[in-house]
Amino acid sequence: MRFETRLLHFDAAPGDPYAPVSTPIYQTATFAQESAVELGAYDYSRSGNPTRTVLESQLARLEGAERAFAFASGMAAVRAVLSLVPAGGHVVAGDDLYGGTCRLLSTLVRSQGISVSYADPADLDAFSDALRTDTSLVLIETPSNPLLRVADLRALAARTHAVGARLAVDGSLLPPCLQTPLALGADLVVHSATKFLSGHSDLTGGVVAVADETLAREIAFLQNAEGTALSPFESWLLLRGLKTLALRTERQQANAERVARFLAAHPLVRRVHYPGLPGHTGAALNTRQARGAGSVLSFETGDPELSRRVAEGTRLFTIAVSFGSVGSTVSLPCRMSHASIPAALRAERRLPEDLVRLSVGIEDADDLLEDLEAGFRRARPAAADQGEVFAFPASSALLGGAHPSG
Ligand code: PLP
Repeated sequence: MRFETRLLHFDAAPGDPYAPVSTPIYQTATFAQESAVELGAYDYSRSGNPTRTVLESQLARLEGAERAFAFASGMAAVRAVLSLVPAGGHVVAGDDLYGGTCRLLSTLVRSQGISVSYADPADLDAFSDALRTDTSLVLIETPSNPLLRVADLRALAARTHAVGARLAVDGSLLPPCLQTPLALGADLVVHSATKFLSGHSDLTGGVVAVADETLAREIAFLQNAEGTALSPFESWLLLRGLKTLALRTERQQANAERVARFLAAHPLVRRVHYPGLPGHTGAALNTRQARGAGSVLSFETGDPELSRRVAEGTRLFTIAVSFGSVGSTVSLPCRMSHASIPAALRAERRLPEDLVRLSVGIEDADDLLEDLEAGFRRARPAAADQGEVFAFPASSALLGGAHPSG
């Protein structure tokens, strides 16, 4: 069964005598037992719930995983993965990571004595230099948030395994219809299900999918012991959202490609970060290991104040943190999702203060381009307005990519 069909065809209600086509929401905390000494398949929803089981089996099928686990948030999923690192252990992390993940890592440094080396996974040799014989975990995002850098997953997996460590990939920017890191050698995949997997900005959730039974046992233990599993209602909502994942992704990506070309040709844009543009440094690699570049992209204007005005000048792009929803959003990572990384560290990691991140939705692409153009027009410094009216670029200009990207 191909991916699109797998999204729709699965056993929605195993063992249910009425064969509902939509999974029932088992909104119960506990389950009556026939015996006081031998428990049935389910005893307590923190440990296991039938709605969550259907979701987790479906997520495992989609990721090509041994097993998958649904968590109450992406951060709960990241936390479970980081719990695999022993106290005093060593982690190598990508240097372009979601701000909340960086914040959690620095907390673990203080409370567990874990040491973290940050390196750019898009630079394979420099990243490999950070690996040590006592490294137990490598945690990266590809493409990374918000700079869309692409890491070579096969090569990274080989180098990680050579020092006896595990490779965890936060794939929140590319859902499994576009990229399946386990097939490329990763040991664990993490998703903020709040993003593309649910697709409607109506739930907070996380996923950990694992390649082998040992990891499955470890993650299952943590999910139960720490009480971080996704609730029955949210599990049902995520199951519903997943059914349209391929359709949403296809449309969002097609729209994002047009937005990226539009931005690359825009006179107020200095640089576009989107692996779907031919000039992007990670474009060829992304094409080899993924089936598309997704629908999140970022760009620089050269001026943080101008970027703020552009973000505030759009009408269809809602100013909001998060991404992956059917509705387009705009954000300023340094002021919003990545504000928890100290400014000096952001500078050290080459995170531009003027960066604008877009998540492109399923609206009509022409409306989105017109809205962006209107946003730029409202944002332009007054001097730039004198004597000329900026003409909306013709479609041939949009294909030109006059400004460097990547
Ligand atoms: N990973 C990435 C790449 C993210 O962008 C986010 C949130 O934005 C998370 C993890 C955390 O997910 P959540 O907000 O669902 O806890």
